[in-house]
Amino acid sequence: MKITHLETLHVAPRWLFVRVHTDEGLVGLGECLGDKARAVAGAVDELAGYLTGQDPFRIEHHWQLMYRGAFWRGGPILNAAISGVEIALWDILGQALGVPIYQLLGGKCRERVRMYPHISGDTLEDLAESAASAVAQGFTAVKWCPLPPTRAVDTPKMRQEAAEQVRVVREVVGDEVDILIDMHGRLSPAMAILLGERFAEYEPMFLEEPCLPENVDAMARIARTLRTPIATGERLFTRFGFREVLEKQAAAIVQPDVTTCGGIMELKKIAAMAEAHYVAIAPHNPYGPVATAASLHVDACVPNFLIQEFVALGEGCLKQPITVTDGYADIPDGPGLGVELDDRAVRDRPRQLWDIPTWCHADDGSVADW
Ligand SMILES: [Mg+2]
Repeated sequence: MKITHLETLHVAPRWLFVRVHTDEGLVGLGECLGDKARAVAGAVDELAGYLTGQDPFRIEHHWQLMYRGAFWRGGPILNAAISGVEIALWDILGQALGVPIYQLLGGKCRERVRMYPHISGDTLEDLAESAASAVAQGFTAVKWCPLPPTRAVDTPKMRQEAAEQVRVVREVVGDEVDILIDMHGRLSPAMAILLGERFAEYEPMFLEEPCLPENVDAMARIARTLRTPIATGERLFTRFGFREVLEKQAAAIVQPDVTTCGGIMELKKIAAMAEAHYVAIAPHNPYGPVATAASLHVDACVPNFLIQEFVALGEGCLKQPITVTDGYADIPDGPGLGVELDDRAVRDRPRQLWDIPTWCHADDGSVADW
């Protein structure tokens, strides 16, 4: 079997699908990071020059060539392109062998996968309603970001308002549901510690990206100072990007994203590295349903899996959307990824893509981290 061509498909709100076509009619489906989607699609085009004519089953070899073979390694754009293509190659292999991808990764070590949705609200009442709705649907964990654009050191009022959100959500969901707080890299380490100390009494499952991820020593200092577990990793790529976080014990939970970390096998390798450091994985995934399906295949096979983020299950996009019951997803059981795009539904979806918001502080117009 030979790869004949690659195809990318932009779909609103922020999804970039990739298809790898073969000369035997099998088509593999993948998904790349959908932010900066034009650049990522361009990187997929560049990979096509190498992949066309190749045997699609040599997944590790192709990964090595895509990652190492072109000198300029790393970064979100290249890794997103590699990830989407790699997912599609696993889909081809699974379809050719007639088995689900999780079977090729060692088989299931769990029967279903715990999922968490996002909650939101512009007012405390709306946030409370959103949290109550998620619990009523059966979810056992919810996540949101309680922070506005934040100064390196911000006011007691700002801290009080953020803590009030956490108090309200804990009150609404009770003690049998986990609350996950995404700090989105918006805080200085000093602010992260001030806020983390404040949130601790509401016992969040984790604080995510309490500061930006480039300075692992700063993250490690926060992790040593706060008693709430720290999670990070959505903006790290490949096993090389996670090494320092694990070695410095900068997080209790790592969050590689299958659409950017290097794909399915790379996510499994990062999980194995984390396991040896007694660190859990909670894969990041605010993207489309193909990313959700790819994540589930790895989650099924990883012993140190904790919980899976999701936004999209595939309604109005997949022929058979992923099913979630009582907050747990069924692992797709068909050959390959076990999900297929509904071409007509996808064609009807808008192509207009989401631009990542930019934030500036209201008082002086200086840039704030989103
Ligand atoms: Mg996040």
